[in-house]
Amino acid sequence: MMRLQKRLAEAGVASRRGAVEIIESGRVKVNGVVVKQPGFSVAKEDKVTVDDKLIEKEEHVYYLLNKPTGYVTTVKDDLKRRTVMSLFDEVDKSQRIFPVGRLDYDTAGLLLFTNDGDLAYYLTRPEYDVPKTYLARVEGMLTKAAIKTLKAGVKIDNYVTKPARVKAVEYDTKNNSTLVEIIIAEGKNQQVRKMMETVGFPVKNLTRVGYSFLTLDGVERGSYRALKIHEVKKLY
Ligand code: URA
Repeated sequence: MMRLQKRLAEAGVASRRGAVEIIESGRVKVNGVVVKQPGFSVAKEDKVTVDDKLIEKEEHVYYLLNKPTGYVTTVKDDLKRRTVMSLFDEVDKSQRIFPVGRLDYDTAGLLLFTNDGDLAYYLTRPEYDVPKTYLARVEGMLTKAAIKTLKAGVKIDNYVTKPARVKAVEYDTKNNSTLVEIIIAEGKNQQVRKMMETVGFPVKNLTRVGYSFLTLDGVERGSYRALKIHEVKKLY
């Protein structure tokens, strides 16, 4: 037996949180009867439908994309802007993959995709503390005091950021800018940009270069690769 919510997530219909909404909205039937309780127990042989379409357990797939700037992180964009999905081959896209978390339109770098709602749920929960590494080119010469503040926690939008790892990688005196490596375990909206702005060093460009133990090695900007089985296991 399994909770209905989990069955939907495992079938790649949505994340677990998304599945709750779908169930509560009355779109899900078990053996032909509408069920609105996410915790409802279903057996393997029970027929589960969403909008009267039978859902089957699909094979899970996992991809690592090196996102270029100028793409929106969404499956569909109402404003008809270029989406990250357009970077995938049709065959891979047809597996109903979705992005794990989000990178801003102007941010480049490592973004995971999967149809595994459980893994996506786990990776995006703040309490799991998955470290994400960013390289930010900022205006000005980053000071020791600013680094200390960034490490300890910065107040952004009435929220104090958790301790971060921060170091200046390179000072460019000619162009008056600094390349900063910053590792954070959370993912608030535009967190890195806001943190840097708050300490007085606005971000000129931003790239995510690491997600947990994964890096961009061997993946060119705009392309992607499938994760290896051992990498997926390590993420869980
Ligand atoms: N922090 C940001 O400011 N933007 C991103 O896209 C990711 C982290």
